[in-house]
Amino acid sequence: MKFGAHMSTGGGVWKALERGAGIGCEVVQLFVKNNMQWLGRSYGPDDIARYANELAAEKFSCVFGHTGYLINLGAAAGPNRDRSIQSLIQEINLATQLGLRFLVLHPGAHLGAGDESGITQIVAGLDEVFRATKDAPVRIALENTAGQGSCLGHRIAHIGAIYGRVERPERLGVCLDTAHFFEAGYDLRTPQGWDAAIGEVETMVGLKEILAFHLNDSKTDLASRVDRHAGIGQGKIGKEAFRHIVNDERFANHPGCLETPKSADLHEDVENLSILRSLVETMKTKREPAAVRRK
Ligand SMILES: [Zn+2]
Ligand SMILES: [Zn+2]
Repeated sequence: MKFGAHMSTGGGVWKALERGAGIGCEVVQLFVKNNMQWLGRSYGPDDIARYANELAAEKFSCVFGHTGYLINLGAAAGPNRDRSIQSLIQEINLATQLGLRFLVLHPGAHLGAGDESGITQIVAGLDEVFRATKDAPVRIALENTAGQGSCLGHRIAHIGAIYGRVERPERLGVCLDTAHFFEAGYDLRTPQGWDAAIGEVETMVGLKEILAFHLNDSKTDLASRVDRHAGIGQGKIGKEAFRHIVNDERFANHPGCLETPKSADLHEDVENLSILRSLVETMKTKREPAAVRRK
């Protein structure tokens, strides 16, 4: 896996790259606009130029976006659904300006209308957004969720259903969050549990659809349905679980992005990145088979 963290764009979108490079990120996730507002302004030539300069100066393996937190495609018709669709269309256009490959999106919450109705709304919303951004190369990576309240996406089957019904599944991808998996009831603490969770994605969506991972520990218990991220090894998943996760050879080149609590000097990110890298087993450190060891 290629490691990095979510970085603030405070002071300008290029600042996220500068900050990420400063602490040794190979991948960076950023918000393309204020994540608590419906609409932002488009980037001017100066923003784009500074961003392009920064991108060229650093050797990131992947830079991608996370959509704003107000967007909910799962709700019934109404002003907030219309705003959600307009907001997502704008984010795809902003991501296109920056050349991002994909934007991570929480599928949405049905707000009491039921799973089936929520999924129908999400599919119709995505279809509308993809029609309005026909030529944009940006994909929408659906993220698995903890399943708080009426949020969909805590079962991989929800994501599979969305994939099965949208008009343009090639515009979709998947982002898997380790904390959300655990909080939703997928026990990633053993290699078998991890393989079972990934196995669901393989069966219901397809392994090649996985575009990124969010590497977060969880403050809450297995199946809590409550989303609280913790630093790697500081939560209920525990450090050892991340060993089989980061060494999964199927994802050797995938982005693995931290979204863990941090302060302004980013020292927690530095620590978490170093923990993740210390868990990576190179050919040399990989356990030798018993027969060889006995010699
Ligand atoms: Zn997210
Ligand atoms: Zn979360």
